[in-house]
Amino acid sequence: MFRCNIKKIAWYLSRNLANQIAHDSIQLNFKSKGLGHVGDTYHLEDKSNFCVCCAAIENLTMHHVVPDMYRRHMPEIVKSHASHDVLLICINCHTSYEKAASELKKKIAIDFNVPLNGQRRIRLEYNIKIKKAASALNRIGIPEDRIQELKNIVFTWHQQITDKTENDKLEGIIEKALMLPDYEKNNEFVEQGKYVVNQLLKDCFYITGLEDGSTRMRWPKLEDFIYLWREHFLKIMRPRFLSQYWKVDDKIYIE
Ligand SMILES: [Zn+2]
Ligand SMILES: [Zn+2]
Repeated sequence: MFRCNIKKIAWYLSRNLANQIAHDSIQLNFKSKGLGHVGDTYHLEDKSNFCVCCAAIENLTMHHVVPDMYRRHMPEIVKSHASHDVLLICINCHTSYEKAASELKKKIAIDFNVPLNGQRRIRLEYNIKIKKAASALNRIGIPEDRIQELKNIVFTWHQQITDKTENDKLEGIIEKALMLPDYEKNNEFVEQGKYVVNQLLKDCFYITGLEDGSTRMRWPKLEDFIYLWREHFLKIMRPRFLSQYWKVDDKIYIE
């Protein structure tokens, strides 16, 4: 397997901008603002067009090592460095990894004590019962005693929601009942990804005294979380065709 870009390597070497550290890779020996990935060998390699796990060349897809449900809530200086965590993988390998990934997501939810009320909406069982009764009353061929039961259900409901003196016709009540919603929004709903990332971001410190006078924020727990996903991918998939320069502890910030 030969996956480097010889031309690019030759260009850097001929200008003394890099040292060769392997036949197919170099280490830059200058600080380049424009390049943004100083000393970062992985980014100089060409990303070849095959699955990092099985080397398949068909049905390839991009896999985000840190799932999007977390990543999208991360700070910009972390998100912008995401190219390290996008890998080319075939659909088969991807499907088998995603199973393991969803187990890890469940474990994370437990570890972070994410409220398990993780439903976006709540099914309104009582409304559904009323609607079923109402639509049955619209049908023909229902036995008389059953019709009485159904009428009781809708009348009881109607009495609860209206002024008892109001005297609606059965047809009107049925029509109203059929308009009841099946679901309502769950105001307690917590999005797992957002919740987890917000917890991770609480632990933060600043780096000051930099040459350019700027201040940088760092989030150690967020770093560990990203390393956790990288490690998990390596452990589960053992991607034999992944670049040897792809490292679990590769930096996570763009600056
Ligand atoms: Zn594959
Ligand atoms: Zn994926």
